[in-house]
Amino acid sequence: MYTDDELLMISAIQHFYYCKRQWALIHMEQQWVENVHTVKGQILHEKVDDPFIFESRKDYFISRSMPLISYHLGFYGVADAVEFRLSKSGCYIPSKDNFYEIIPVEYKVGKPKEDNRDAIQLCVQAMCLEEMFQTTIEIGYLYYGKTRHRHLVQLNKLLRQEVYELSKEMHETLENDKTILAQYSTKCSNCSLYNICLPKIKKSYKSVKRYINIKLTEKE
Ligand code: SF4
Repeated sequence: MYTDDELLMISAIQHFYYCKRQWALIHMEQQWVENVHTVKGQILHEKVDDPFIFESRKDYFISRSMPLISYHLGFYGVADAVEFRLSKSGCYIPSKDNFYEIIPVEYKVGKPKEDNRDAIQLCVQAMCLEEMFQTTIEIGYLYYGKTRHRHLVQLNKLLRQEVYELSKEMHETLENDKTILAQYSTKCSNCSLYNICLPKIKKSYKSVKRYINIKLTEKE
C-alpha cells in the first residue's frame, strides 16, 4: 500500500506508457508545453459537463468529475464521468438506497489510438473505483471527440496486469530518481515536448549546451 505522499496522478500513466522520457519531463522535471493536441484535449474535457451523450433516466445516474484514489496502486485523479446503472449484482450506494453497477467513461480528443494507452488509463480509473466502492468493474468506455463515438473496453486480466507493472515501474523510477534518456521515434513529431526533449541529440553529447556548441561549430 502506498502513502498519500507516494500517490501519482492517474493521467501520468498514459504518458509513461507512450514515452517514459515524456513522463519524466512532465512529472519529474515539471516541463509542459501546449500544442494543438493538448489544447484540444482541454477543450473537450471542459465540455464534459455538457449532456451531449447521455440522458438521465430512472435506472441510472452519472457522476461527473469524480475524485478517484487507490492506495493499492498508488494513484489519484479525477474521472470524467462515472455511470451508475441499477443492478442487483452491483454495489450498494447509500445516498440512493439501491444497488448499482459502476462504469467509468473517459473522454479523449481525436480518434482511437493504435496502442493501449487510453485503455490503460481507463483501467486505472476502474481499479480506483473498485477500491473505493469495494466492488468489481468489468467494463468501461472511451469516448472520442473526433469520431463522437464511445468504445467499450473490457477490463480484463491482461490489462490489469499491465497496469500493475506500469505502476510498479513508475513508483520505482521516481523513488530511485533515475534519468530517462530520449529515444527518437516516429512518436516524436507529434510530441508537445519535442523542443525541450531534443530527442535527436546523441547520448554522447551528454548535454544540450555541448550539442549547441557542436552544431554551431559545424555551421562555421
Ligand atoms: S520528443 Fe520523443 S523521446 Fe522526447 S519526450 Fe517526446 S516522444 Fe519522448
